[in-house]
This record gives sequence, structure tokens and C-alpha cells, in this order.
Amino acid sequence: MEYWFSEMHTPNVKLSIRVDKQVYSGRSEFQRIDVFDSPEFGRFLVLDGYMMLTEKDEFIYHEMITHVPLAVHPHAKDILVIGGGDGGVIRELVKYGDIEHIDLVEIDEEVTRVCREYLPFTACAFDDPRVSLHFEDGLKFVRTRKDAYDLIIVDSTDPFGPGEGLFTREFYGNCYKALREDGIMVNQHESPFYAEDAIACQRAHKRIVESFPKAKVYQAHIPSYPSGHWLFGFASKKYHPLRDIDEKKWNARGIKCKYYTTTLHKGAFYIPAYVEELLSNVEHAD
Ligand code: SAM
Repeated sequence: MEYWFSEMHTPNVKLSIRVDKQVYSGRSEFQRIDVFDSPEFGRFLVLDGYMMLTEKDEFIYHEMITHVPLAVHPHAKDILVIGGGDGGVIRELVKYGDIEHIDLVEIDEEVTRVCREYLPFTACAFDDPRVSLHFEDGLKFVRTRKDAYDLIIVDSTDPFGPGEGLFTREFYGNCYKALREDGIMVNQHESPFYAEDAIACQRAHKRIVESFPKAKVYQAHIPSYPSGHWLFGFASKKYHPLRDIDEKKWNARGIKCKYYTTTLHKGAFYIPAYVEELLSNVEHAD
């Protein structure tokens, strides 16, 4: 008997992963939560039928959403993570001894509970004394913050369901307000390849450009995500992602990565012509 997990990437394309067993299945107040074991991708987390992360390729996503901004910001001390209830971003953040405080705002406490129990490879740093967990809506949380953070990482689900509010003008405007005068916001920025994802990506980018003076995208190859070509947003009040990277300082930290390097950092911002075009009508020239 063969068991497969399938995710529709478009109405005509699906990704199917052979599974050995379903480790967990439950429903929280916000979403369905499933965990599977598979021969190819190891253990993986699915929310409302959408792939969140796999044991085999989560390092790509979590390294790229965390180390790119931290190789640029010269003195990031206070960090806000919105979403990220699996703990992968937190695991990467606590590798920086000079980070002083991390607020994690995850709407669904059940996700964190399930990840602590079944995904120890990402949910392994929640108990770091610098981490404060807030189980509430990131959209509401950020409304009450002003000049409080050096970096905001928006590690959200896709722009529907509980994650929808994290792709709005209001949210990006409040992130701008919550950041200090040289703050940076990075976000998971969907994909340019399939039509629906490309529209979501362009819409989010337009709204970010309207809230930040510098707004670029960078890319990574994430096999378990739709098309594998995934984008991240880099929005900044002051620093430029290529002109202000401090390679020497970052490399001196000795943080071991399997995907991120300061050389790849630079390459990641050189995006394909069709993606340039998709975003160019909403990007600031700089
Ligand atoms: N890396 C994954 C991706 O790119 O799809 C996201 C990982 S993480 C599991 C996404 C988290 O965002 C989920 O745990 C979800 O509960 C949380 N989330 C969704 N909407 C939220 C909101 N409005 N406020 C806070 N967390 C939210």
C-alpha cells in the first residue's frame, strides 16, 4: 500500500511526496495541522494542506530569511518575528550573541506545541532566555509598537487564512512604525513562477514599496515550495542589502550555514529578467 501527501501548486500541477506515516493530525482554532514522515524529505509540517517546512530543505528558507538582514544591519539588538511558530527562525537568530531580545508573535499556540513535540530540529531554541513568545495576531501586535525593533522577520503562511492580514498596507505601515530609524523588515514574499503566486508577490511588493524607501527582493531555491523558486522581501529604512553588507564582520562570527554565504547573499539579489519586470513598475530606482 502506497501513501502520498499531495499539495496542489496550481489547479494543474501538484507536488506529491511519498509518506511512510502520518505522525500527527489535528485542528486548532485557526487551521488544520499535520505532520508526516517521508523517505525523501524526512519529517514535514503541513498547515491547512499547505507545505510549511521539511526536515530536508528547511535550512534554506530559515538561513536565507535570517542571515541576509543580519549581515547588513550593523547592530541588530531587538528582533520581532511574526509567524515562525515552528521555531526555525528563532534557531538561527540565537546564534548571534549580540542580539538582546526576540519577540516571537505566533497566532496559533498549537503550532508551537506540535512543533516542540514532533519537529525538534526547528523547535529547539524557544527556551533561549532572550526569546519571548506571544500567541496572538501579528497584525494587532505590531499596531502597538513604535521605534522598538532593529529587525522584523515576517515568517508567515500565505496571503489567505490567518496570514492574509500580514500582506496588507496597514501591516507594512505598522511594521515601518515599529522599526527604529535604521530598521529592516524581511518577509517571505511568495514566488514569481505560477500566475496566482506571482500576483500575490507583486501585490505584496507594491504595498511594501509604498511603505519603505528601499524595497528589494532576493531569491532562494526551495525544492518543496511551489516551483522551487522562492522570493524574500528586503525592506529597509536606511541600509542597502548589497552596498551595506559587512562580509568581514559576518564571516568573523563563524556561524556555520549549509546554504547561506556572504557571496551567495549578493547573488541572491540578482533576479531573473521576468521577475524584474513583474516588480519593476512598483520598485523605487536607487
Ligand atoms: N516557512 C513557512 C512558509 O513560508 O509558508 C511559514 C512557517 S510558519 C509555520 C508560518 C506561521 O505563521 C504559522 O505557524 C501560522 O500560524 C502563523 N501565522 C499566520 N497568520 C498569522 C498572524 N496573523 N499572526 C501571527 N502568526 C500568524
